[in-house]
Amino acid sequence: MKRIIIHWTAGLYYPSDHEKKCYHFLVDKDGNIHKGVFKPENNLRCINGYYAAHTGGGNTSSIGVAMCAMAGFKNSKNCGDYPITKKQFEACMELCAKLSINYDIPVNPNTILTHYEFGMKHPSTSSAGKIDIIFIPPYPWVDRLDAGKFIRAKIKWYKEKLQGE
Ligand SMILES: [Zn+2]
Repeated sequence: MKRIIIHWTAGLYYPSDHEKKCYHFLVDKDGNIHKGVFKPENNLRCINGYYAAHTGGGNTSSIGVAMCAMAGFKNSKNCGDYPITKKQFEACMELCAKLSINYDIPVNPNTILTHYEFGMKHPSTSSAGKIDIIFIPPYPWVDRLDAGKFIRAKIKWYKEKLQGE
């Protein structure tokens, strides 16, 4: 696996059957991790109907991790009834750190990124214009252009912690 792409589901706080087909790992509001229907390895070769289609134009070799939240999100002032919780966000960061270790994926903007960042880098794909993740409710002061950077810093911190440095 080459990449981890981080999402929010734009859904409710616990994964639906449909969402489980779209991502490899889903983190609920309590910080529990749910495995999706497909394994990351199913995305090495994306055969129609047998892989997690989480990132238009970027599914091959990409692990899809999603936080179950953000239904009804409009903007930072109007976040809807399912804002990402702190516990959920931290659990997601720790999960990404573990995946980064297990799959030997370095933490940099090309290899661990948000769906939003992927869309910005690949404007001709269907991922262009995706808004996950432009706002982190437990850290509302993080600007949309810094969200990916903030996420990578968090993942790095968890990675060092897990590796006992
Ligand atoms: Zn997404």
